Amino acid sequence: MEILHHGAVNGVTGSCHQLVIDSSNSVLVDCGLFQGAETSGRGDDDLLSIEFDISTVQALLVTHCHIDHVGRLPYLLAAGFSGPIIATEATAALLPMVIEDALKVGVTRNQSIIKACLSRLSEQLIAVPYKRWFVLDLVGEVKTKIKFQPAGHILGSAYIEVDVKPVTEVSSRVVFSGDLGANYSPLLASPKSPYKADIVVIESTYGDKDHQGRRERAKSLEKVLIKAISDNGVVITPAFSIGRT
Ligand SMILES: [Zn+2]
Repeated sequence: MEILHHGAVNGVTGSCHQLVIDSSNSVLVDCGLFQGAETSGRGDDDLLSIEFDISTVQALLVTHCHIDHVGRLPYLLAAGFSGPIIATEATAALLPMVIEDALKVGVTRNQSIIKACLSRLSEQLIAVPYKRWFVLDLVGEVKTKIKFQPAGHILGSAYIEVDVKPVTEVSSRVVFSGDLGANYSPLLASPKSPYKADIVVIESTYGDKDHQGRRERAKSLEKVLIKAISDNGVVITPAFSIGRT
């Protein structure tokens, strides 16, 4: 077993990890777009194309719908990936909207191209409930099952437990964190730590920065609103990402 990283390696966007199970089987976890600072000095082809071999990829597992985790999906389809795209139920419901939006904003307004991409997506998309094992269809004798667990990041977000059981060996568990949320979010269940793991691949989007507490953030918003009301000002709320407005 081997894990290759095709994104979120030198920065924090473009998440795309390949779990190589054996010479005939691998799974991809996320297929995100590079954004912000990571795009400077690089051409579109370099950023968007799927430059790695996908011939052994048997499934794409999606942790959540943010563009830096799913934005290269159309390019993966264009590269010929025809396997299942597996996500939680909420992510599967959101994903077509996110991809349609991403295509319109970043690629094309051509309705027939957008429609073709979305119909491929809906054919390949499989929704799996949280906390339920799902067995992957692989080549040969090796057995692999996956389970989504709540990650508390955005609607539908999950960390993924992957159990790999080669024929003659004991199984090992690899956990892909995706993006993790904080506890006590008003709308999302708090994430619970995985029961066990042999290997953990963990995202660290904010590095060593501490977020402001929820109460302090509410206070600073209140201050801004009170000031705007008192001097007849205008408050602009940037809507840049799902679940962040
Ligand atoms: Zn995210």
